Amino acid sequence: MKVGVLAVQGDVEEHQKALTKINVQSRSVKDESSIKAVDALIIPGGESTTISKLIQHHGLADCIKEFAKQKKPLIGTCAGMVLLAREGDDQVRKTRQNLLGLIDAKVNRNAFGSQRESFEEKIEIPVLGGNPYPCVFIRAPAYEKTGANVEVLATYQGKIIAAREGKVGVTSFHPELSGDPRLLKHLLEG
Ligand code: GLN
Repeated sequence: MKVGVLAVQGDVEEHQKALTKINVQSRSVKDESSIKAVDALIIPGGESTTISKLIQHHGLADCIKEFAKQKKPLIGTCAGMVLLAREGDDQVRKTRQNLLGLIDAKVNRNAFGSQRESFEEKIEIPVLGGNPYPCVFIRAPAYEKTGANVEVLATYQGKIIAAREGKVGVTSFHPELSGDPRLLKHLLEG
């Protein structure tokens, strides 16, 4: 399997390093033909307004939607989780982000406060079994509401921090920074 990491802005390299550690091939992708050539796609953390603008600028929204339609694994971490949601909060509206709407959920963009409130917490993710998962949160979003077809994978303080709908998976936190490969593996295996 070759995994593409959307490389318009955000922590692309960290994802690639985490994938290399689990012997998964990856490449950074930022145009239609390179996105079409990969088997799974990750939209990384970063600044969701910037990533949204660059997706529009490079004309990639339709191609990402098509990717999801083909039922290839599509993962959004942090800012990526914001962009994959169907519905945004006031902040998303104010910053005029074009959400991709590939998971039936309403996102709260900075659910856990600002940058200084970045934190790490070990949290139970039942599908992973075993030990709680070390979740690294950085200005993290969360989902407030999800549709009937969305599987909630984990919650923290009453907020949805990991979920999936079909092959589209999202995390509020940064699995690429945790040093624990279980969650990325789980989402990539679809
Ligand atoms: N909350 C940030 C945003 O919406 C995302 C932060 C992150 O990706 N680390 O842009």
